Amino acid sequence: MGIGITHLGSGSRGNAAIISSEECNVLVDCGFSLKQTEKRLAIAGFEPESIDSIIVTHHHKDHSGSALRASKKWDSYLHCNLGTASKMGWNTVEECETFGSLERVQFSSKLSMLPIPVPHDDADNVALIASDGNGGRAAIVTDLGEAPHDLIKHLSGCNHISIEANYDHRRLLGGPYPDSLKRRISGRGGHLSNRQAGEILMEVLHDDLESIVLCHLSEKNNAPHMAESEVLMAIGDDFDGSIAISKQLGPEFSCWTGQLEPRSIVAA
Ligand SMILES: [Zn+2]
Ligand SMILES: [Zn+2]
Repeated sequence: MGIGITHLGSGSRGNAAIISSEECNVLVDCGFSLKQTEKRLAIAGFEPESIDSIIVTHHHKDHSGSALRASKKWDSYLHCNLGTASKMGWNTVEECETFGSLERVQFSSKLSMLPIPVPHDDADNVALIASDGNGGRAAIVTDLGEAPHDLIKHLSGCNHISIEANYDHRRLLGGPYPDSLKRRISGRGGHLSNRQAGEILMEVLHDDLESIVLCHLSEKNNAPHMAESEVLMAIGDDFDGSIAISKQLGPEFSCWTGQLEPRSIVAA
């Protein structure tokens, strides 16, 4: 069956993605309002109660927003690391289960995730590598200034990679943000530019990489065609799979490991 990856939407105003495998659905981040999350789940064809677990990558509101409320309402487990739990004020006995860096979180016999620490502002952020235990692997990588060695190593074995392409460097420099914010975004603990996303993908490219989703695009400092063309320029003819973009509005499609092309979602 493989692993399904459905972005409900991605950007600075909210992030959430469903990772599915046989009989198990995990929501990676829950940064929209509860109402908005339920609306988007319905468009993607998921009952809220079918979300077994929610895993939060870091405490920023666009990733954590309604996670606790959703986990209580849907009776889903809530997972995060200790740094995120303490920043959110979540009770680690009653409200969430914490994981350590590089400590595999097992959701079912057919789905686990490996959290890999990444540098990002004041956050204890993690990238996640989902595995179906049968060789299928999918990554979700957002909110990082650069890719640490551990991450590169694990991305090299993934069939699907969702990675942020946050900004076009020239557009950021010439854009409306104050210099201090420009420095923060482009610094070691900020976000990945289109070029950085392309360089990382080029480094980890292998024959079994089937699909790429670019996500967390800045609405001010980027545009979908710029992100896609810069990444395609980097990986070029070496990549035979599909490339798609998850926008702030969604969901629009699902990717599955074992398949090259995403399946589009038609809103009812
Ligand atoms: Zn974010
Ligand atoms: Zn963040």
